[in-house]
Amino acid sequence: MFDVLVVGGGIVGSAVARECALEGWRVGVVGGGNLSGSATAAGMGHLVVMDDSPAQLALTAYSRSLWRGMAQRLPKTAEYDGCGTIWVAADEEELIEARAKCAVYEGMGIEARMLSSAELSEAEPHLRKRLAGGLIVPEDGVIYPPAAAQYFLGEAKRLGAEVVGLRAVSAAHGEVRLADGSVLTAERIVLAVGTDCTLLPSLPIQGRKGHLVITDRYPGVVRHQLVELGYLKSAHKLTEDSVAFNVQPRPTGQLMIGSSRQYGGTSAEIEPAMLRRMLDRTMEYMPGLGQLSGLRAWTGFRAATPDKLPLIGQAAGLSEDESLWLAVGFEGLGITNAPGAARLLVDGMKGRTGAIDATPYLAARMCRQVGVVYA
Ligand SMILES: Cc1cc2nc3c(=O)[nH]c(=O)nc-3n(C[C@H](O)[C@H](O)[C@H](O)COP(=O)(O)OP(=O)(O)OC[C@H]3O[C@@H](n4cnc5c(N)ncnc54)[C@H](O)[C@@H]3O)c2cc1C
Repeated sequence: MFDVLVVGGGIVGSAVARECALEGWRVGVVGGGNLSGSATAAGMGHLVVMDDSPAQLALTAYSRSLWRGMAQRLPKTAEYDGCGTIWVAADEEELIEARAKCAVYEGMGIEARMLSSAELSEAEPHLRKRLAGGLIVPEDGVIYPPAAAQYFLGEAKRLGAEVVGLRAVSAAHGEVRLADGSVLTAERIVLAVGTDCTLLPSLPIQGRKGHLVITDRYPGVVRHQLVELGYLKSAHKLTEDSVAFNVQPRPTGQLMIGSSRQYGGTSAEIEPAMLRRMLDRTMEYMPGLGQLSGLRAWTGFRAATPDKLPLIGQAAGLSEDESLWLAVGFEGLGITNAPGAARLLVDGMKGRTGAIDATPYLAARMCRQVGVVYA
């Protein structure tokens, strides 16, 4: 008998397990220790404050502050680097967007500053010349997601959590049935299952495919995570395939190049045409990158909800089962949001008021928004 069983050991499940273990609860993690096929193994690891909506801004800002607070305790393997983000404005229209974004951040007490065209060029000499300017958010960072997930799971284990390597075939009414037929029981079950909706088919989640490329080592070529402001437009598109310039400097000197977004389809195969589009876009902003050698390309799936906010808290609204809790639907922000989501979830279980309002992330909103009925 556990107090909490977490199903899924990606970065979100691992962060939830750690947070529950910190409460002194008996915790089990089903499917822990195996990241193959997970978004955590495929993700880019940009820790970023985003302002698509007030709820997204609140959760990313809260989570980023938690990452910064634990930066000193993270193992070296997690490769935390507070390199900051530069949002690159290609033209006057995007510069106006950057200024608006800057004002929003400043209003939230988040450090952000506009860069002129010359300052942008000085900060990132390999960007093409005559870009309009940029917005620097110095406290954003990057991390190596699988190692960060391992750290959370290791901490949970140190605090007494048990990791069960098997998959769950059902999870309901306080019982998790494992692939070998055995059954574990718990007061609460947390589904942290990424894009896999088999345990709760009413989860309104779709996989959104992304391609990434990692290069050989070229230290200093890129100094900040660089993202075109047009990224915001492409990330908003809910049906069309899109690409955006998004390059990350790894502490190893390698560059990680993104990003693409595609709906529909479940094949993880690399699509040469999409990869080509993504790299062409990269070279529009950094022509010199065409001279560097890429080592590997891969794909992953982001778990997208209809309103682009995660589902954190009790499953009420999608299920009448009071033992079920959710930590899913993080789309392209699950690495950033894992620590904040874990804390909000545990605050909800304890009936505590958290650091931010948890209401926008509750599954109950889905009944109103998309007419999803009980499973
Ligand atoms: C290309 C790409 C780039 C990204 N870039 C970023 C970024 O820069 N910054 C950022 O913040 N986020 C980024 N993301 C998003 C981020 O990677 C995800 O949101 C995050 O990893 C989700 O973590 P998770 O634990 O919810 O899901 P996952 O990592 O998918 O983990 C879920 C786990 O649950 C397991 N599971 C499912 N069902 C069962 C079951 N029945 N029994 C046992 N186990 C089960 C799965 O096997 C899996 O291991 C990116 C994603 C992609 C694909």
